[in-house]
Amino acid sequence: AVDANVISLAPDDQHQQVLVILYDVTFLRQVERMQLDFVGNVSHELKTPVTAITGFAETLLNGAMDDEEARVKFLQIIYNESTRLTQLINDILTLSRPENEALTLEAVQPKALIDEAITSLAQPIEEKHLTVTNQLAPTLTIRSDAVKLSQVIRNLLNNAVFYNRLGGQVTISAQPDETELILTFQDTGIGIAENDQERIFERFYRVDKARSRHNGGTGLGLAIVAEMVKQLGGEITLKSQLGVGSTFTVTLPVN
Ligand code: ADP
Repeated sequence: AVDANVISLAPDDQHQQVLVILYDVTFLRQVERMQLDFVGNVSHELKTPVTAITGFAETLLNGAMDDEEARVKFLQIIYNESTRLTQLINDILTLSRPENEALTLEAVQPKALIDEAITSLAQPIEEKHLTVTNQLAPTLTIRSDAVKLSQVIRNLLNNAVFYNRLGGQVTISAQPDETELILTFQDTGIGIAENDQERIFERFYRVDKARSRHNGGTGLGLAIVAEMVKQLGGEITLKSQLGVGSTFTVTLPVN
């Protein structure tokens, strides 16, 4: 896409002179388009839980309240959908924070952050009979932003648990060296087909929408991971095979 500015320079009798300035606005248009798409997606995603909440509240008010069973069931749905709405809003706010927000660098022990994330997933881990192994050394210390790193760890572990199979495994390991720390999150889950592998980092992209929703997913988890890894000065790569499992590798500077 091209924008043009045409400026007429002082003409004399014989010569008409114009200056044409061409701007390549392809990138700008792409950004505008992405922003519009995002707003559209956000509205759509917010609408789903709001519609459910309104609908079930209305049904309750129109008489379902008198039925004990329906009352409990509908209130549970309203509660679940409200929780989902909160999660969505939190994720959207996380993504809308400015890119250049300063990092708060401090001594961080990644093993402890991973342990915390595992603890908060204790219930689904138990329900799915998963074996989760955190192979990091407790003494391993890097300088990083604990909040952002924690978000990366939580989102990757969440997915490793929720997209896993019954009785599966999740293994977190590290290869530290002088300049960088390589963290790998390996699962024995459903895997990701090759043509989806790049797209799953896009906002709201899900391979299986119903499954993601059922797991309480917002479709923003990996977009947040990608954004945070970038802000931390790192990189993320993915290796995955359908039906076998996925390995996400995060390379971080140790500062
Ligand atoms: P969601 O909230 O849907 O989990 P994410 O951004 O975290 O959103 O992930 C995007 C999609 O990528 C998921 O819907 C799922 O299809 C796929 N995905 C992410 N992590 C994994 C994984 N470990 N194993 C299999 N599929 C995954």
